[in-house]
Amino acid sequence: MIRTPTNTGWIEVIAGCMFSGKTEELIRRVRRAQYGRQPVVVFKPRIDDRYSLDSVGSHSGTKLLCVQIDRAAEIRELAGAAQVVGIDEAQFLEDELVEVCEDLANAGKRVIVAGLDLDYKGNPFGPMPMLLCRAEYIQKALAVCVICGNPADRSQRLVASKDTVLVGEADSYEARCRLHWDPEGAEGQQQRLPFGPNLAERLSK
Ligand SMILES: [Zn+2]
Repeated sequence: MIRTPTNTGWIEVIAGCMFSGKTEELIRRVRRAQYGRQPVVVFKPRIDDRYSLDSVGSHSGTKLLCVQIDRAAEIRELAGAAQVVGIDEAQFLEDELVEVCEDLANAGKRVIVAGLDLDYKGNPFGPMPMLLCRAEYIQKALAVCVICGNPADRSQRLVASKDTVLVGEADSYEARCRLHWDPEGAEGQQQRLPFGPNLAERLSK
């Protein structure tokens, strides 16, 4: 970030697939603000209860204390005097999050949002697309495709389930590039394949 506004707030969005380091980047930015003695608060939706009940944790093990919320509107009430407001797993919150972030930024706060931009079917996820439009600063975090090592921007689901929300664990998802991602891959899959059956069929032709 080259220059940030003064006398006003703003919105930063860190978007990407699973294993792209979104949460680590959120934690890095929030920690820097903490070192600068800026009042900070971090929120995340209650749906994500991995690792512990009261911290934001990345897959690499870095952690940050946070407040768990059920609705985006709670952020408005709980942000208090915080100058920097972090929100992790934003894709699980309602569309109201967009207005909440706008209000916080208009009130002079720095709002840092991290979340999955695409669900496992490859569709824009929850309030993320609108947040990306409203943000002053955007970072697309890329992972590494487990098949070929290309930059990866998609989350491959490895277990058959039609639920959009299947809270991510290392054994339920993999990062894949455009070539190796298959939205139908986990459907009816009897055993784990290195890539989805549809893609296997396409490649064998
Ligand atoms: Zn690949």
